[in-house]
Amino acid sequence: MKGPLPEDVLHRWFGYRTFRPGQKEIITQVLNGRDVLAVIATGGGKSLCYQIPALIREGTGIVLSPLIALMKDQVDCLAESGIPAAFLNSTQDIKDKRSVEDAIRTGTLKLLYISPERLVQPAFLEFLKSIQISLFAIDEAHCISQWGHEFRPEYRQLSIIRKTFQDVPIIALTATATPSVRTDIINELSLSDPAVFIGSFNRENLIYRIEKKEDGEQQLVHFLQGHPNESGIIYCFSKRQVTDLAKLLQKNKFSALPYHADLPKSVRHETQDRFLRDEVRIIVATVAFGMGINKPDVRFVVHYDLPKNLEHYYQETGRAGRDGDPAECLLLYSRGDFRKIEYLIEQMADGTERQVGLRKLHEMVGYCESRACRRAVLLTYFGESWDKPSCGNCDSCHSGRKTIDGRDILATISACMEELRDDYGVSYIADILSGTVDDKVITRGHDTSSCFGSGKPHRRGMWVYWIRELISCGYLSRYGSRYPVVRKNPRTRDALAGKIPVRIGEPEFQAVLTDESV
Ligand code: ADP
Ligand code: ZN
Repeated sequence: MKGPLPEDVLHRWFGYRTFRPGQKEIITQVLNGRDVLAVIATGGGKSLCYQIPALIREGTGIVLSPLIALMKDQVDCLAESGIPAAFLNSTQDIKDKRSVEDAIRTGTLKLLYISPERLVQPAFLEFLKSIQISLFAIDEAHCISQWGHEFRPEYRQLSIIRKTFQDVPIIALTATATPSVRTDIINELSLSDPAVFIGSFNRENLIYRIEKKEDGEQQLVHFLQGHPNESGIIYCFSKRQVTDLAKLLQKNKFSALPYHADLPKSVRHETQDRFLRDEVRIIVATVAFGMGINKPDVRFVVHYDLPKNLEHYYQETGRAGRDGDPAECLLLYSRGDFRKIEYLIEQMADGTERQVGLRKLHEMVGYCESRACRRAVLLTYFGESWDKPSCGNCDSCHSGRKTIDGRDILATISACMEELRDDYGVSYIADILSGTVDDKVITRGHDTSSCFGSGKPHRRGMWVYWIRELISCGYLSRYGSRYPVVRKNPRTRDALAGKIPVRIGEPEFQAVLTDESV
């Protein structure tokens, strides 16, 4: 291959000596002209995966990015290293745009950041056809999937890239790796025989902990007292909550500032800068805070309220401990918060959005309520295999609970559900599996079905536990509020087919022995 070596570019332009996991493989594939889907956890170093091949290949690399604010940061950052990069977006005037276009035509620009909306404008497509393009990079590619947590309809139009530019490699990047999102990205972008790279989502240095929220403010203050002089972020659900908590912390002499979208831009910038410079230790924020902020020594992330889904939770906790040193992630969980968010999602006009939103919220709640290793639940949620009985670094594991393989248990339950045909609730299915005779069972004639007692020698209370735990860990779903029934979901099928691991928490000793009723 012509041109400089990736290692040399890494060192010369970015000042790093070694690649992070996956970077080299991904860069090599793109240099060979192959399409790539790269799934790398936040902070894992996705940008270099397209920036380096763009520097090595002839022409300009076109980067599709959903956020105008991030474009500017990236371009400024590249400019500092002397890399010719620019963006085109609605914030610029005609003159600025012209000068960018001229730079592209003369071939001096190596990277151009644009929004998906711009790409699909016919005149702009014509312009792109007239220049030499080294690659297309699609950042935050999960936005193309309805199954992701940030669906953006305009991303759907990006399918035009493969149709229009057949010889230019496309690299799709995301930190969201649920298998259905992955498949969606490949299909929607029509990637041809892509090299798929999926990095590990395990952040070993992060401690995951969930506490029941009782007196939230007091729990928070107590937690912060255990982290003196450390930098951290506290996520809240509402702007009001942010304001109130920030005041409370300031009153208690903590170095804390609020951050949310209603604060003037200049204030937000100032707050961000002061956090980066360690002039303020704690940021109390809504989800608006954090995108594109790279502070390596964030020692804790607290979720004061329940996040809407595991993607958000993972991404936000992922802002802790980027330097690799231990960092703590605490979530204060309450059913009340769950109901509040559930209510808001139920008001959504779009049926699909509502459905996906609710499912994801239930998965989030399941994570909080499960007894399994937090890491096991998180990683298997993102499709990664993880079969250790304990990670040793989460509250479940600290309390001595073991996480076990639940595939056979799931198979037994699933076979029973299939034979029963209609939907039933947790306790009825447990009745059947344990062979518990009662009136309903007899009226329905289920005492003669082959699954009746198929779960022996485990007792009824045990099956109640297993079914609930499988629901908590997302392998089964619960539908309905008054008489909830158990149903299978796409993960049930994947789990039974052996495509994803089944990790659930072992019951406590008592549950095995007692026949507690529900
Ligand atoms: P992502 O987009 O995956 O969240 P970034 O591309 O923003 O991650 O990279 C996160 C941080 O890691 C950046 O500060 C980046 O400079 C740094 N980084 C990336 N690759 C390397 C590497 N090979 N060696 C050292 N630091 C790296
Ligand atoms: Zn664990």
